[in-house]
Amino acid sequence: MESDYRQRGSKAAAFTDEQLQSAVDEALELGRQAASKGTVATYIPELGKARPEAVGLYIVTDDGRKCKAGDTGIHFTMQSVSKVISLAMALEVRGADEVFRHVGMEPSGEAFNSIVELDFQRNMPYNPMINSGAITVESLIIDYKPFDDMLDFARKICMDPEITLNRQVYLSEMATCDRNRAIAYLLKSKGVITTNVDHSIELYTKMCSINVTAHSLANLGLLLANGGIDPLTKERLIKPETAKIIKTIMLTCGMYDGSGQYAVEVGIPTKSGVGGGLLAVAGTDMGIGSYGPALDEKGNSYAGKVMLKYLVDKLKLHIFD
Ligand code: GLN
Repeated sequence: MESDYRQRGSKAAAFTDEQLQSAVDEALELGRQAASKGTVATYIPELGKARPEAVGLYIVTDDGRKCKAGDTGIHFTMQSVSKVISLAMALEVRGADEVFRHVGMEPSGEAFNSIVELDFQRNMPYNPMINSGAITVESLIIDYKPFDDMLDFARKICMDPEITLNRQVYLSEMATCDRNRAIAYLLKSKGVITTNVDHSIELYTKMCSINVTAHSLANLGLLLANGGIDPLTKERLIKPETAKIIKTIMLTCGMYDGSGQYAVEVGIPTKSGVGGGLLAVAGTDMGIGSYGPALDEKGNSYAGKVMLKYLVDKLKLHIFD
């Protein structure tokens, strides 16, 4: 049964190395053109130093193939892509029932840092992929996993021992994150979070400031594609249920208020961050990571979206294709 399922979800196996590499090269070309339409985030001052024209794309497959193009050596901070890692840890240590008692699983249709609907419409965050939801998730793990454990977990599930904290970005965001603090205090006033607000904000901001490359994100995509097992070592790193929930929430909520259109046009589980990263999952055997810090008006990488759309069309990756 399991092997049938895996074969049905197999995407990469149908393509030769050359076909995959040329799809990546062509996507990069389009990504480079698209980058000029976006702008780098500056509300976290340190992020404003990124080169808007930088673009990189990385694919890894479960049979060990790697295809890359462009600026794949650049380190950048995960920002909201880290919400996937925090959610994974929360599901592993607290279980899905407990997590979803504190945070919903519905798309919000609002900006990632929205605060209004939290006060007026609901008494808990819409989902774990927006700031209010992720701050809530951090509050659920903080007494179980200090940041050093989270960093180790990130290194493990991204299969990248070189992942570190970017201290400049962390300090820059800590100095400017009044809105996130406001969200956290509102959550505390409603009893959604019960832990210390400062500690939850520190953990949230440190997670956002984890430095990765497009390769690290592609590796995490492959782990999720493969149901939580490292395809090379065969080691199970997260439970299959955790991988399933995360992929579903990435598909419905991973691009904030651009998630619906992205699901129609691209249609694979993807998570963005304002550092310019995209983490994407294709079928059961492919992970994709991209970098492009020039963002659209919703905070999603312009080049990343264009490259992912190209790959999906060319390789027939859309989940309903
Ligand atoms: N650290 C960022 C923030 O809280 C993350 C937002 C994002 O990547 N969309 O604003």
